[in-house]
Amino acid sequence: MPLYEYQCRSCDHQFELLVRESTRYECPKCTSRELDKQLSVFAVSAPAGSSMTMSAGPSACGACGDPRGAGSCRN
Ligand SMILES: [Zn+2]
Repeated sequence: MPLYEYQCRSCDHQFELLVRESTRYECPKCTSRELDKQLSVFAVSAPAGSSMTMSAGPSACGACGDPRGAGSCRN
């Protein structure tokens, strides 16, 4: 089930909404239906491919992930 983050336009309350068929799109605080859908938290903090780069370490070659360092794969 997709989990989305919304912000209420009436009271600025931010909340996550688990979207199902029965889900009602309204603020849990003031029951307003004026909601702004926020960008996914996961998409912002972890863009595609970044986890592989980070796991290889800061000194690893950026092209191939070689732990000996940048450019070592070319020799
Ligand atoms: Zn609200």
